[in-house]
Amino acid sequence: MTRLTRWIALAALALAATSATAADAATVLITGANRGIGLEYARQFKAKGYAVIGTARNPGEATELAALDVRVEALDVTDAASVAALAKRLDGVPIDVLINNAGIGDRDDTSVLATDFAMFERTLAVNTLGPLRVTQALLPNLRAGSRKHIVNMSSRLGSITLNNGNYPAYRASKAALNQVNRSLSIELGKQGFVVVVVHPGWVRTEMGGAEAPLLPDESVRGLVKLIERLAAGDNGRFYDYLGEELPW
Ligand code: NAP
Repeated sequence: MTRLTRWIALAALALAATSATAADAATVLITGANRGIGLEYARQFKAKGYAVIGTARNPGEATELAALDVRVEALDVTDAASVAALAKRLDGVPIDVLINNAGIGDRDDTSVLATDFAMFERTLAVNTLGPLRVTQALLPNLRAGSRKHIVNMSSRLGSITLNNGNYPAYRASKAALNQVNRSLSIELGKQGFVVVVVHPGWVRTEMGGAEAPLLPDESVRGLVKLIERLAAGDNGRFYDYLGEELPW
């Protein structure tokens, strides 16, 4: 073998190894990935070599997400047609991990006695029905994936035990999400799925505000660690970003 043919053979081997890694890479889909915790999930999973699909309501404006060189898809989780269109575009694409991250909170959501019902309905539509709608639509993709992990972004504010007032609509939406998660874990657990709700901590994002003590980087580092070690015994559980279980 000449030096040139040896070099070509080595290069071909290296190329084969690279494409094997790419083909074996797990795929993660993150909703609401254009900013905040969702964007940080996209950044950290991409850095770990995952194939990342990040969704945004306005993909044209999701410049930070696009700069990560990930697949960007349009999605409004409250819009059945938008969810169906995403599922159609992803037809045949296996998804290993689904992270239902998109969510809203309203700073004026302060008193259950003076609640704004339109705001309450919007909060339930995004935070509770959104994750369920997306999960239902992407089930064929998740069934085709090897991990079958679904992570629903909840909050400790969704814990009835820990309720100490304010944000009643947000709390109700996350408590209901926790119930949806439990129901999903029972039905899908039999099919090899692991479905969990997680609390990211109080994180400095548009939702968390400038006072929040945790940066997205630290919160998501903990959550990614948790997600990567999920096993059958975790199905249906409620964890914080450090892996501690939270009371319902
Ligand atoms: P954020 O900075 O406000 O980001 C929210 C994301 O959700 C944005 O990408 C937003 O997209 C998207 N979104 C909102 N409505 C949507 C809809 N109808 N369809 C699709 N996407 C929609 O919030 P965050 O702090 O990163 O929070 C992420 C998740 O963690 C949420 O579920 C939140 O409830 C939960 N969480 C956060 C904290 C915290 O302290 N930050 C604490 C506990 C739980 P647009 O840019 O288009 O609005």
